[in-house]
Amino acid sequence: MAKYLISSLILLVIIVCVTTLNTDEDEAWAWFQEYSDAASIVENRRAKINWAYITNITDYNQQRELEYSEIRKEFTKQVAQNASTFDFNNFQNSTLKREFKRLANKGTAALSDIKFTRINKLAIGLESTYGKAKLCKTGKTELSLEPELTQMLASGRNHDDLLWIWKNWRDATGKVMREDYLEFVELQNEAARLNGYTDTGEYWRDGYSIEGYDFRADLEKLYDQLRPFYKELHTYVKSKLKAYYGADKFPDSGHIPAHLLGDMWALIWVNVEDLVLPYESSKPVNATPAIQKLTIREVFNITDEFFTSLGLETVTQEFWDNSMLEKPKDGRDVICHADALDFSDGKDFRIKQCTRLNMEDFVTVHHEMGHIQYYLQYKDLLYSFRAGANPGFHEAVGDVLALSVSTPKHLKEVGLIDSYEENYGG
Ligand SMILES: [Zn+2]
Repeated sequence: MAKYLISSLILLVIIVCVTTLNTDEDEAWAWFQEYSDAASIVENRRAKINWAYITNITDYNQQRELEYSEIRKEFTKQVAQNASTFDFNNFQNSTLKREFKRLANKGTAALSDIKFTRINKLAIGLESTYGKAKLCKTGKTELSLEPELTQMLASGRNHDDLLWIWKNWRDATGKVMREDYLEFVELQNEAARLNGYTDTGEYWRDGYSIEGYDFRADLEKLYDQLRPFYKELHTYVKSKLKAYYGADKFPDSGHIPAHLLGDMWALIWVNVEDLVLPYESSKPVNATPAIQKLTIREVFNITDEFFTSLGLETVTQEFWDNSMLEKPKDGRDVICHADALDFSDGKDFRIKQCTRLNMEDFVTVHHEMGHIQYYLQYKDLLYSFRAGANPGFHEAVGDVLALSVSTPKHLKEVGLIDSYEENYGG
């Protein structure tokens, strides 16, 4: 049934083959709008099939994902072909020019049929390996990334235990995925070359390109500005961790061993806050005890109220009906990594998160709801415009919100801490 629906949509966007390029921009707009409606339906179907898989990793759901990717491939190819019948490089309207250039890119659909199927299998397989990985310590039950290993890394203070977790997690994921990942990168680069880029990196950077703007140089400049502060912070945290774990645990290269930063990816250092406080008097603000008295639904309600208090949108009923806000208790494998999803129908927006009741996840909930808010704000635009201004923009929106709720002032306002004292240490 779905196949017929999609096929008729594909027919809808087919324009009769023309020998010379079409220069009519009004016609281009009309086609672009038709494309938008068709793409929304294709994307809605994809999102639902993907949701079934990420919230229940089974062979059957994996197979459905693979099958649907073949249907999407045909759609992408047809769209690219139709967009290419227009003389978009000479369009006066710069928005239309940019969007047509993007649609003329076939992505991985540019690969041969065999390679396309292969790259999708690899992608799904990699995701599944990571999502299903578990560690076993003698005499103990299986340990998943969430909640067990995440929690153990955050609160553990025994060096050898932390090292065991970090190393064994890499052995159970990275090592297993290595060969497939290398092949995946190779195919991804081949697709990028078929679309006129030197490699995937250049294709990704293209998402940030604006005429007259040098993305690389700008990033380099930002990094140079930040580097002195980062170096000081790194050196300081290292000295504190050295004092706690012993200098012999630290390599001569000057790095901080990744397993000592309280996070599986050494990305968020907040969990080692107690070890690195500069002064006795500078007690960290800890809202976790109050958060633990709430339900997960209440944490999401507080977040939703935060957005409406700013005059922004409340989430839809579909959000509450369809989201997965905590790890299912029935033992099925799910991809726990927190994510916010847009189902492209203007009302179905969901979060998938194995939420824990603590300060870190309280902030993550705000971050994810930041994505949902962005989806809500652009839900009535054409499909192509329902995306971040560039590939990094969505995360920035999420983090702006996350940062603003981490302040003691806000935590007090929502009743998660009683009082706080502002001081400058010493
Ligand atoms: Zn995010």
